[in-house]
Order: sequence, then C-alpha cells, then structure tokens
Amino acid sequence: MKNSDKTGRLIRLDKSHVWHPFTQMKEWLSSSPVIIERGEGNYLIDTDGRRYLDGVSSLWVNLHGHRKKEIDRAIKAQIERIAHTTLLGLGNVPSIELADRLIRIAPGGLKKVFYSDNGSTAVEIALKMAFQYWAESGHGGKRRFVSFTGAYHGDTFGSMSVGEIDVFVKKYRPLLFKTIRSPYPYCYRCPVEKAKGAGHGARRKKEMNYPDCGLECLNVLERILRKHSGETAALIIEPLIQGASGMITSPPGFLKGARGLAKRYKVLFIADEVATGFGRTGTMFACDRERVRPDILCLAKGLTGGYLPLAATLVTDEIYRAFLGGYEEQKTFFHGHTYTGNPLGCAAALANIEVFEKEKVIKGLKKKIALFEELLEGFRALRHVGDVRNAGLMAGIELVKDRVAKEPYPPEERVGFRVLREARRLGLIIRPLGDTVVLMPPLSITEDEMRRMAEITFECVRTVTG
Ligand code: PMP
Repeated sequence: MKNSDKTGRLIRLDKSHVWHPFTQMKEWLSSSPVIIERGEGNYLIDTDGRRYLDGVSSLWVNLHGHRKKEIDRAIKAQIERIAHTTLLGLGNVPSIELADRLIRIAPGGLKKVFYSDNGSTAVEIALKMAFQYWAESGHGGKRRFVSFTGAYHGDTFGSMSVGEIDVFVKKYRPLLFKTIRSPYPYCYRCPVEKAKGAGHGARRKKEMNYPDCGLECLNVLERILRKHSGETAALIIEPLIQGASGMITSPPGFLKGARGLAKRYKVLFIADEVATGFGRTGTMFACDRERVRPDILCLAKGLTGGYLPLAATLVTDEIYRAFLGGYEEQKTFFHGHTYTGNPLGCAAALANIEVFEKEKVIKGLKKKIALFEELLEGFRALRHVGDVRNAGLMAGIELVKDRVAKEPYPPEERVGFRVLREARRLGLIIRPLGDTVVLMPPLSITEDEMRRMAEITFECVRTVTG
C-alpha cells in the first residue's frame, strides 16, 4: 500500500538522522519502514492508520495493552506534581511506595531496591554489587562470574561479559572480562551432548534426552562451582527461559537445582528477570515457578507495564549490610544514574502492579497460556519447524532447513526476517531472533487476537519456508 505524504516525509527524515538499534542501517535505508504513531489495546497504529497486532509486546515490555487507562492516569497525576527529582541525597514519593510494593511481591528474602533505567544497567548493578559484596566481606578473591552458554544480559560491558551471543559480543571481546560458562539446557541441541562429542556414539546421545539425562547439565554446573567456588562472586541466570538466544526453555528442576548449587558452593545467585518478570511466564516472576529465592533480582522491561524506562535491582539485607560503614571506610556503592528512581517511571510501575492486583492478571493467564500452547502445537505440522518452546506467553518457533538433521538455514537466507516482513504485510508485528520466530504478546491479548496472531504467523512461516 502506498504511503501518505506525511509518512513519506517521516521516513525520509528517519533515514537521514535516526540510527536504529540492532539494525544493519544499509538494509534499513533500502526498506520501507513502518512508523508507529499511536497504540490502542494490543494494537499499534501507523502514520497511515494501518493497525498491527503487537506480537512481541513492543520488545517484550507491554503487559496490559497500550493506552491502559490506569497507567495513563497515574503518569498524568504524577506529572501534575513533578516529573523528575534526583535520588542522590533526596527521596521521592513514588520511588518509596514502589520499593515497598516490589519487596512485597518479589520472591522472599529480597529487602532493598536499587533503581536504574534499563535491563543492562539492572544487570550491571547486580554484577558490581556481587563483586563488591565479597570484597567488603573479606573475600576479595571472589571476583569472577559463572554464566550460561547462550546467555544475554544486556549491552553494557559488564552485561556483555556475562553474555554469550557471539554475534553481539565478539567485536568487543578484547574489552570484556573473562567469565566461566556452564551449559544452559538447550535440550533441542543439548550442549552437554555436543561437548561429549560424536565419538561417544548413539548410547550417549540417547542419555542426553530429558528426563533420561538426569539433568547432566546440573552436574557440569556443580563441577564448575566446586572447582571455582573460591574465586566466584556469583552465578547469573535467565530463569526458566533464555530470551535473546532464541527462547530456550529450561526443563523443570533446572532452575531450582542451579539455585541449590549456588547456595552449596557459596556463590551469589543473580536472577535476571528483565524479560521474564511480571507475569510473562505465567507466575509473577519466573523464580516463583520453582520457589526460588535469588540473592539478587534484576527487573526492567515489564516493570512499568511497558510505558517508561525504569529498572530495579533487588537484593537481600545481607548483601546490603556489607556496604554499611563510616564514610571514610569507602564501602559506599558508588553507582547511580541521573534518572535513578524517576518519579514518572515509578508512578507507572505502581499503577502496573495495581492493575495486576485489581484485574487478577496472573489468575487469568492460565487459560490464555493453555490456548497459546494449543496453538503453538499446531506449528509442529509445518515441515521446517524444528522445535516449538514456550514458558507462559514467551514462545519461540525454531525454523530449520532440515528437520531430521536439525540443520539450520544458512544465515544469508534470512528466513526469520522474511517471516517478519510477511507478517507485517498481514498486520502483525513480530521480531524473530535469527530463524526463531518469537511470539510474546501482551498479557492482555484476547483469545481471538491470539488465534489471529497464530494464524498469521502460521501462514507466514508456511509461505516463507515453502
Ligand atoms: N537481560 C535480559 C534477560 C534481557 O532479555 C534483556 C533485553 N532483551 C536485557 C537484560 C537488557 O535489557 P535492556 O535492553 O533494557 O538493556
């Protein structure tokens, strides 16, 4: 469809001046981008009035739909009072109320809230706190981190160092600190089986199928922690599901097992719930599913219901207390951002949590997730669907060239990207991760909208993969 003059002008200006994130700009410059102007419920509306279902919640943030009255109202009410004031040396009302609320809904044991602006900084803060905690507690040798293969924790140098998506970090590797990696249970392509090599033959391969494998990946983690406990500050994990590496779900018991091992080997346990927090996996936090109490919890994305950039790092009293001392002892946590604890963001987050409570959102998810899983199951009928995985309303459909051999498509075929383009034409916004098609609708998606989203995606995958 032809764009209006207004849209044409905006696209020209965009291409002249805006550098888009995670985007090959050469490709962008020759594309016809969609420019979003408005939102309504679970739909995005472009500058020519075309409507698109928001199939990835505006990059995994939106929870209750766009223009949610309660959140709009809370932000307007806050703006009538004050938009921003600093937390350096001053308190502000919504940041206090929100901290109290967060502590009440978070997994037990977390008592203090440190604010920042995005997921990467929430993680960066967690890493710095874990490192300094041990230094202040007389264990300065505990300064390394254990993270998982395929992890994504953000784009700052610390969060990149604990991340492992090669294409994102390899250019910066000379600047990153070394991290110890443990295999994440990507069961479709089991990394433990891969590490053991083909030489071990069919018997070994069979053993590496869950649940027969007995979660061998936890044994590997245990060996790593046993060996490196004396030099390790923390283990960092994306609980239940790794997002950016392709929606990789971990089998039941893995999260709890990893938590138990961290405790046994005296290593702090950092749960990065930037993506999974706030109902995405069906419980308020992914940790709740396996009754896990992390030492540090990172929150961002859904914290404000997808409205404003706000993040929080929650810690236990034990960690917090290690930073207390006379000023001259310099135990202070010397970290903070200009907009730390921004009142507008905190007001939006408070309204978000109130919506969860008032509308009993978590309870309502059960039925939606059941339908989602039923619809996802249907994708297995397609010849080039290798794997379908989900944790609650976070799902990945991995497309492969050859299903039997699990052979990926050559990256230059841009299969995932072609599915995205086709979906857009049919009124659905999605953003695949490589050749894994991601579906992560707002929690407020209706059953009809969910069916529509699945239908369009199915059609697009079929058209693109033939
Ligand atoms: N951690 C996880 C698990 C994430 O999924 C992301 C973002 N996708 C981040 C951290 C980084 O968050 P942000 O993009 O807000 O910096």
